Amino acid sequence: ISLLLAGVEKGDEVLLPTLTFIATANAVSYCKAIPHFIDCTRDTLGIDCNKLSKYLEENTESRDGYIYNKKTGRRISIIVPVHIFGHSADMDELQQLSQNYNLQIVEDAAESLGSLYKGKPLGSFGMVAALSFNGNKIVTTGGGGAILTNNKELAKRAKHVTSTAKQP
Ligand SMILES: *Cc1c(COP(=O)(O)O)cnc(C)c1O
Repeated sequence: ISLLLAGVEKGDEVLLPTLTFIATANAVSYCKAIPHFIDCTRDTLGIDCNKLSKYLEENTESRDGYIYNKKTGRRISIIVPVHIFGHSADMDELQQLSQNYNLQIVEDAAESLGSLYKGKPLGSFGMVAALSFNGNKIVTTGGGGAILTNNKELAKRAKHVTSTAKQP
C-alpha cells in the first residue's frame, strides 16, 4: 500500500536492496511492478549508493521528468531503502539520488522502529514508510503493521484503502 500511495504503476521498475526479506520484493510484484535489485554495502547493510549512482548514470535516460531503464524501457520512479536489523541505509546519499533522479523514497522500516539516523527517526525520511508489527518484530500486534507519512492526503488515502473504504 505504501508503494501504491507513492504512485507506483503497473510495469514500473522499483529499486530495492538485494539484502532484505522477500516481503519487500513481494510488495513490488503485488503492484504488478518489477523488483530491480541493487547491491548492498557491508558498512550499512543497505543500498550501495556509489554503485547505484554509477549504475543509474550509465543505464538510465530521462524523459518527461522520470528516468527509464535503457535496456528494458521501463520507468523507474521509486526506491525502497531497507534498514536491516535497525541499521540505517545511507539516507543522505539516498536523498541526494532521489532528488537527482526524481525517485520517490518508500522506506521499508519493518526492522527499524526506534532507530535514528543523525538524530531523526527511520521511517521519517521517505514520502511513505512501512512498519511491521508481525510476531518477530520490535513491537508486535501478532500481525499487521503501520504506514508512516507526513502527507495528510496520503494518510487519508491509506486509511481508505486499508479499511475496505468504510464510511463513518
Ligand atoms: C518482516 C519484514 C517485512 C514484512 O513484514 P510483514 O508484516 O511480515 O509483512 C518486510 N520487510 C522487512 C525488511 C522485514 O523484516
